[in-house]
Parts: sequence; C-alpha cells; structure tokens
Amino acid sequence: MKLTFLGTGTSMGVPVAGGFGPKNETNDPRNHRYRCSAWIQTPERSIVIDTGPEFRLQTLRAGIGRIDVLLITHEHNDHLAGLDDLRSYNYAQKKPIPVYTSKQTEESIRHRFSYMFPPNKTPGSVDLDFKPFNGPVTEGDCEIIPLPVRHGKMEVMGFRINDISYITDVNKIPDETAEKIRGSKILVMSGLRWSPPHPTHYTIPEAVEVSKELNIANTYLIHMSPFVDHGQVSARLPDRVKLAFDQLEVSV
Ligand SMILES: [Zn+2]
Ligand SMILES: [Zn+2]
Repeated sequence: MKLTFLGTGTSMGVPVAGGFGPKNETNDPRNHRYRCSAWIQTPERSIVIDTGPEFRLQTLRAGIGRIDVLLITHEHNDHLAGLDDLRSYNYAQKKPIPVYTSKQTEESIRHRFSYMFPPNKTPGSVDLDFKPFNGPVTEGDCEIIPLPVRHGKMEVMGFRINDISYITDVNKIPDETAEKIRGSKILVMSGLRWSPPHPTHYTIPEAVEVSKELNIANTYLIHMSPFVDHGQVSARLPDRVKLAFDQLEVSV
C-alpha cells in the first residue's frame, strides 16, 4: 500500500497569511505545508483522510482519480472545509462516497453542510454515505480500525488501515487505543512544534516519546507550525521519527 501526504501543516497552513511566523523563512519547499490530509492507495481502494481548505488543490496536485472511501478525523475547519469539493468525484463515480468518522463529527457535518442532506438537500450537492464505525470494518483489501484519541477536551478519530496508523490533533492516546496502534509499520502522528507545550497538541518531543513507547519503527510527524524548520528540526530527531512534508510518498 502507498501513503501520500497531501498536507502536513497546522491549522493556518504554512507559511501563514498575514506575516505571522518566523522572519527568516528559508526557501526549503518542505516548509510549505497545506492543511493535513492523506491519501492511501491499495490494489482495491483509494482512501482519503480529511478534506481541509486546500482539498481541491491537493487532489489535483496528487492526481487523485477516484475516492472509494473517506475518513474524517474531526470537525475542525482545517480538516473539513474542503468537503464540498467531493462533488466532482460524485459526478464521475455516480454514487455516494462511504464515510467513516465519529458520531459527533457526523452530526457536525450534517449541521454545517445541511444543504447536502435531506430535507434541505440541494440538487447536485455532495452525496455522502455515513457508515457505522463502532469497531473494525472491512473495505475491499483494507481493515479499518477506529483509533479514538484526545485533542484537549475533544475526541478525535484516528484510523488504522492495515499496517498504517494515522492520528492527528492529539495530546493524549488512551491505553485502549495505544494497544490497537502497536504493531503498525507506520505511525502518522501530529507534532505541532518543538516547544512550548500546547493544551491540545503534542509537541514534537512529546510525539517522539509516544512513538518510542509504542515501539514503532517508522513515525512521520504532521500538523507542524510555521516555527518548525524542516532541516533544523529533522537533525534533532532519532532515526525512527521523521517530519513528513507535502507530497511525500511512503510505501509499505
Ligand atoms: Zn488540525
Ligand atoms: Zn483540531
């Protein structure tokens, strides 16, 4: 299976509009980050995780031809604002897209995008098919396991898809979820910045510690702030933890 990082930046994207951020920004393209999203391809399924504000640009940049399954981590705008751009996939595929997420996120989507759902449904709007997700589900050659984690007071849904676990916007992993992550060949996890600590996100050193506790051989960090310089921070990381960057592809 192949994992493509469609976006790896924190909620405002990197660089940040309006000039917030480091003044000595480098030209390293790895420091240019769209909002977090990922694409997983297996022989039988094309799976997208999250549809942030740059979703259309990300699908064009990566050349995503079809989307069989959509996974949504949570309802924050940086993970959801591009949902409407699934329309073109509905047009081409001529059927609703199956969605797996938490009940809370489903309710938020039904409220915020009410024009996609009866009785308010607008002709031609996105067709989603929310699926029950209380335990592992099978989609073609993929087993998808829910990985609920804490994002401050909120719950965020992570996903294990065969050997890849993807969790973002996390500052605590419950023991029960940690057990489900163990044994993954790849862990994708958010690491906002080196310091100071943050109330709803792991810092990079905290994420490194979690990766070590879970004994994961390859961890890729995402959701990085503008203050994370790819080259400088990468030099401080152990071999088994790397900063992801937009358009990075990893195969398992
Ligand atoms: Zn986020
Ligand atoms: Zn969030």
